[in-house]
Formats: sequence, structure tokens, C-alpha cells
Amino acid sequence: MKCPKCLYDNPEDTIFCEVCDHRLDQPYRYEKDGPTMNPMYAVIVALILGAVATVLAIVTVLEFTDFEWFYAVIPGALGIVIGTYSLRTARTIEGEGKTLLYLAAAAAILSVVGFMLGIALI
Ligand SMILES: [Zn+2]
Repeated sequence: MKCPKCLYDNPEDTIFCEVCDHRLDQPYRYEKDGPTMNPMYAVIVALILGAVATVLAIVTVLEFTDFEWFYAVIPGALGIVIGTYSLRTARTIEGEGKTLLYLAAAAAILSVVGFMLGIALI
């Protein structure tokens, strides 16, 4: 299937273009596809957000500090969004994409843990 964005000819059963990651069943609109985030950076940001959310939630649960619940929920929610975004992009990368996929999954899980702990503090 020919990619509507970069015109690369992908195998018939692919969902995302192997070259530019454009969704093949979507028409390409120039203004909608802005610069995309490097998946490696997205994974790192998601990992940091997930770790921050989890640590903040844990220190709050253990009453080391009197942080509010949203200190963990906000980075947790952001981590979930960026983590799932990087999961989606990592899925389409060959080779080192596997490592990226595991890191993205770890980031998403960490973020969910931080987020849930934060919610539990309300
Ligand atoms: Zn393409």
C-alpha cells in the first residue's frame, strides 16, 4: 500500500508507514502532521515523568512530606500520554525499536502506578 505522505510502497498488511510512520488508512494533510517527537526522547521523558510520579506518590503515601495528591497525578497523567505515544512509535521501528518498546512499556506502567497512587491519595 502506497503511503499517502511519503509515497513509499509498504507491504499490504501494514497499518503505519515503515518509513515515515504515517497511518496508511488516513489521508495525508500537510498542516496536521507537524514535526514529530523523536521516539527516544519521548520514551526518556515518559520514563522520567513516570518515575517522578511514582516517587512523589510513594513519599506522600509514606507521609515523608505533605505533598498534595496532584503532585503525583499530573506527572503520572503526562507520563501515560507520552508513554503510550512512544509505545505507538516504538512499535514501528526496526532493530533498536524492541528496546525502545520495552522502555516505553516500563514508562507507561510507572506512570500508571504513580497516577493510581496519586488518585488513591484523594
Ligand atoms: Zn510514509
